[in-house]
Amino acid sequence: MKPDEFRRVGHEVIDWIADYRERIETFPVLSPVAPGWVRDHLAPLPEQPEHGFDGLLHDLDTVVLPGTTHWQHPSFFAYFPSNASLPSVLGDLLSTGLGVQGMLWATSPAATELEQHLMAELAKAMALPDHFEGVIQDTASSAALVAVLTALHRHGDDWRNKGVRGDEVVYVSGQTHSSLAKATRIVGLGEDNLRSIEVDPDTLAMNADALAAQVARDRADGLRPILVCASIGTTSTGAVDPVEAIADLCAAEDLWLHVDAAWAGPAALLPEHRHLFAGVERADSFGANAHKWLLTAFDLSLYWTAHPDTLVQALTILPEYLRNDATESGAVVDFRDWQVPLGRRFRALKLWAVVRWYGLEGLRQHLRGHIALAEALEAKVEHSRDWLTAAPRSLALLTIRHRDGDQATRDALLRINASGEAYVTHTVVNGHFAIRVAIGSETTEARHVDALWNRLEA
Ligand code: PLP
Repeated sequence: MKPDEFRRVGHEVIDWIADYRERIETFPVLSPVAPGWVRDHLAPLPEQPEHGFDGLLHDLDTVVLPGTTHWQHPSFFAYFPSNASLPSVLGDLLSTGLGVQGMLWATSPAATELEQHLMAELAKAMALPDHFEGVIQDTASSAALVAVLTALHRHGDDWRNKGVRGDEVVYVSGQTHSSLAKATRIVGLGEDNLRSIEVDPDTLAMNADALAAQVARDRADGLRPILVCASIGTTSTGAVDPVEAIADLCAAEDLWLHVDAAWAGPAALLPEHRHLFAGVERADSFGANAHKWLLTAFDLSLYWTAHPDTLVQALTILPEYLRNDATESGAVVDFRDWQVPLGRRFRALKLWAVVRWYGLEGLRQHLRGHIALAEALEAKVEHSRDWLTAAPRSLALLTIRHRDGDQATRDALLRINASGEAYVTHTVVNGHFAIRVAIGSETTEARHVDALWNRLEA
């Protein structure tokens, strides 16, 4: 494809995306296709060049769209919405257009320095402490893995040569995201090395006393506690762990404190919600996903650490073919040492596009709008004869259940999702099946939440 062909076909592709976004509300939110339907409708790969996108765009319309769950639909209330705002789509395109692989400072200084600048500026905007240094990871799961690896290095006798000893212990709550369990497995520890601390049944936040007692028991058993993950905004209900109390324990016990705010993190941009982040300044690492609630197309996960040197020591390996003068000078940061893969995309561009298009104030308005919609829905639930909240509302996440019990809640969920008008997913809270209403799509308005509520009440 020559640049002039790219220009022509590129316009068609941008038009296709713009048309799709304009008519997104006409699609059923949840794809109705049966397993295998998409594959059955795809043709064998062409032997001859197509030299155009007509066929591809036709297949997108006829095969891909029916098989797509429309994550950018304003009535997408499932999981956590993963916004791909149009400025971020264009930022992503610019990044791919540059085609930069920014593993080292030397392989593209702008990729590294723009990322450093963005992370430092965002840290300021989110009132994170000056000593945090940031890096963009692909996902919060990778961030969790990096945190566990760094903790292992900090606590290990020669961990880089000998690997895990098998007596290291990682602490989470029963509500922590499963990525921590996966990270623990990946580093070579087993489920026996992961402690799931009980939560308060009302708030679903980690019980800090139970955590302290478990750490003491493990020490008495000769084990080596290494890391606690506290969540600000759990996946199930948005619960917020007592970070201050957990930070006290981590300081006293010399444990790595990773704070996972994958979904709720952007709320740190809002001064009126900063109390949720109290204690974060004492964390060893802190993560928030821009690809959830910060309008940035998947994937882009923000990760700050108080100990970049430990992180680099944990992960760096310098083969001859990566040696270069800039690295050797010690004057630059090579982000390949801050993540698991070697190669890395110029992800900062799409976040930069978002922040510049909306401005910090635009982002704050976006977050506040969703929280206000969730508050309004909560008020309706409080006055409802049929529904009640299953857990306290957390920012823009409301978890509800039917007063008639699990079957009635489940029936409502199935009815809503089959209607195609909205998409919600479930969780279980204190043994009760519950619907999570996660408000967070860029284009969600009161009318979409009202329509969902009418369906729930039907
Ligand atoms: N942590 C929390 C609290 C989450 O809600 C999620 C995803 O929903 C994750 C971690 C994992 O996110 P990612 O897909 O970026 O790995």
